[in-house]
Order: sequence, then structure tokens, then C-alpha cells
Amino acid sequence: MASSSESFVDGLPVAWYNLAADLPEPPPPMLEPSRDEPLEPSRLAAFMPAALAEQEFSRQRWVPIPPEVLEAYRSWRPTALVRATRLEKHLRTPARIYFKDESRSPPGSHKLNTAIPQAYYASQQGFRRLVTESGAGQWGCSLAMACSMFALECKVFMVNVSAQQRPYRRTLMRLWGGEVVVSPSLQTALGRRLLARDQNYRGSIGVAIAESIETALGETGAGYACGSIYNYVMLHQTVIGLETAQQLAALGETPDVVIGSIGAGSNFAGLAFPFIGQRLAGKPTRFLAAEPRACPSLTRGRYRYDHTDAAGLTPRVKMHTLGHTYVPPDIYACGLRYHGCAPLVSHLVNLGVVEPIAISEPAALRAGWLLAATEGVIAAPESAYAIRAAINEAVRCRRQHTSECIVFCLSGHGLCDMEAYDAYLSKRPKISAEKASLIELLRAGKLRLA
Ligand SMILES: *Cc1c(COP(=O)(O)O)cnc(C)c1O
Repeated sequence: MASSSESFVDGLPVAWYNLAADLPEPPPPMLEPSRDEPLEPSRLAAFMPAALAEQEFSRQRWVPIPPEVLEAYRSWRPTALVRATRLEKHLRTPARIYFKDESRSPPGSHKLNTAIPQAYYASQQGFRRLVTESGAGQWGCSLAMACSMFALECKVFMVNVSAQQRPYRRTLMRLWGGEVVVSPSLQTALGRRLLARDQNYRGSIGVAIAESIETALGETGAGYACGSIYNYVMLHQTVIGLETAQQLAALGETPDVVIGSIGAGSNFAGLAFPFIGQRLAGKPTRFLAAEPRACPSLTRGRYRYDHTDAAGLTPRVKMHTLGHTYVPPDIYACGLRYHGCAPLVSHLVNLGVVEPIAISEPAALRAGWLLAATEGVIAAPESAYAIRAAINEAVRCRRQHTSECIVFCLSGHGLCDMEAYDAYLSKRPKISAEKASLIELLRAGKLRLA
């Protein structure tokens, strides 16, 4: 990766970093939905803005961020890089733990980083409306807000089970002018088919993606927007890692371990890719991708060609996948319930550059609670998987007496996720046989990872 210090203005990079330019071997190509032939870029441009279809196949190392997008980023970026000293102290670790705080965007997660350019390119091309899917609602909120900034309509197919768990995210989407449709819905052929088979079908992201694409393809002036998976999403998210590299450098730090949670790979990629570019140039950093044990695409899935949606409408990509018809169990981290993982991240796992780890839901929620108790920060249940991986590394440093620099992505806040923490708090005594109150534990210096 080229030195990028001169390409920053007021703490914000002026170009996204495209890791594809620096890979030792390119990732396998995207294939036609039902033929073993490489996909023509024009086929993507049929249902999404042409600029994004072009970025998907780009090998250009630095992609300039349009001035309109930079101006929108400025309303909340650069985000803070926070040293979690109180968490370090409670873990009695010699490690230095930092988190990049992506939770402070107006909708509350990193997803606004890609929603803004997607809405911008769509408006430039004269689209009237963007259609998308949303699990936990983080992506739907981000896209609805970005669409409102560029005067576009926004329609969100929200996974049924998540819509019930996250009623406030639905309200946020509507406040920003979005139309929310519970998926599976009667508005699409796929939804009607699934509901005819099972009236109480609870949905999955794969189904919601298929419903969005079916809708976008069937309407003139409508485009499809996707919150993760695609190379161009990973590209937009690199603002996270580029800022982090600059912020760490200002502190005289370089990371030993870089960590992100894995839904379909975008917050991990955003933080890690700029550092992976440096590692490919010789720096010995480790990269940990933390996924839920309940939806283990990287640790248990197969690396093969598969569709990104549940209906098989989308082009096939080579990725670690549990199969596109897989319906993951309900977990609180709805944003991590996806059957596959981004082709670029999957490729890096296959090359041995990225280490995947699977974490159980109670272990993740306990880590979220520990961060709240020590740093005061309420993390999204999705982010809690990365927190747990960071804590595990910090505990390893304590055992090995090594002082390493650990950086994780706090991908979002959990202020709309109280159900998850309620469940955690009411089950906690059973999980850990721990009867003392938080304050007693803090006083006694006994706040530990059970
Ligand atoms: C969507 C989401 C994720 C998972 O998606 P990725 O593309 O893997 O980043 C993680 N955290 C939060 C807060 C999310 O909203």
C-alpha cells in the first residue's frame, strides 16, 4: 500500500483503498447465475448504478471519493479511535486495546459509509428509488438516511423476525422517509410462494435480498442497493481502516492484531483491508474474523460458488457458504445471520491471511456487558463478537506476558437492542453462577470473563 498521509484532508482520506490491486492472486471471478461463465459487468449495471458495477471489477488501487460523498462523511467522520484503558485494567492485561468507534454515525453503525456513496451514484444516474433488504435494520436505517440526503425514495424489505425484535429501527427508517415491508412479503413472487408454503415463515437475509432484487428488476427507475458482500461495499468501508492507520500512527502505534465481527464481511474488511495491504508489503499483523457459532460460514462453511440471495437470482460468487437456502437460527445479532461471506474476505481466509474464529452468543453478550461496565459503551450485539475476540487476545497477552496492540471495530451501538441485553442480564446467574452485583464486582476488582 502506498503511503497515504498526503491524501488526507482534516483527518478524512480523499480516496478509498482497493485491496484487489495488491493481492498476490486475484479472487475467482463472479459467474452468471445459472451458467459457468464470468459475469459481464453490464449485467450488474442492469439493477444497480453503473459506477458501482465498475467499482466491483476495478483493480485501481486508490478510488477517489466524490466531493459530495466527502462532504456527507464530514457530518460524523473521522470517527474516534478509543483506547479502552478501563477494560485493559479490569482484564489485568499488558495489551493495549483500541476500538474504532463506528457506532456514532446518525443511524448507529458503519453501514452509512457505503449507503452514502450508493445513494449518491444512484441520484447522479437519475434513479428515482433504491430497494434493499435489512436484517437488524442497521442497513435499512443507513440507506433510508442516505436516500433522504439525495432525495431518493427508499424501500426496505426487513426480515420478519428482526422487524419484531427491533421495532424502533423500523420507526427510524420511516422517520428518514423509508418504506418498510416485512419479508417474506406478498409483494413478490418469491414471498408469496414461501408464505403459501408456511404462513409463519420467519424469513432470512437471503430471502429479503431476493425480494429486493425481484422488485428492483421489475420497476423502472428503481435500483438495488446492498449493504455488504460486494467488492464495492468493502471498498467504501476502507475509510474505517485508513483513518485508523493514521490515528494509530499519530500515537506511534502499529497494530499486532486487527479484529472485526463477520456478518457478510464489510466492517471487518473496512478496518482490516488497509492493514492487509501493509502486511502484504511485509508487516506481520494478524487478522481475526469473529463470526457467530450459530451461523459459521467461515469456520464451517464450504469455499465454493454460491448465490448471494436465497432464490438463486443473483450472480454466483466464490465464498465460504453454508448454502444459499440455509436459514440460520434466531440470534440477537441479526446482522450476522447470513449464509456466506464476502468473496474478498473468503479469498483471504483461503490464502491464510485472515484467521476465522467462531464465538457463542453468551460469550459475545458477556463481552458486550464487560465493555458497557468498564467503558460505558453500549455495543451492538453484532459488535460484541469482535469485542469477545479482542478480550480473548488480551487475556492471551496476560498469560504470555506480551504487550501487543489490539484493534477492533465497534461496528455499531446497541441502543435499539435492549432485548438482547435484557435476556443476557436475566440469564447471567445461570451462565456464570455469578451472584454479585456489577458494583460489588467492580469494587472487588473481580470483573472477569466467565
Ligand atoms: C450489519 C452489521 C454487521 C455485519 O455486517 P458486515 O457486513 O459483516 O459488517 C456488524 N455490525 C453491525 C453493527 C451491523 O449493523
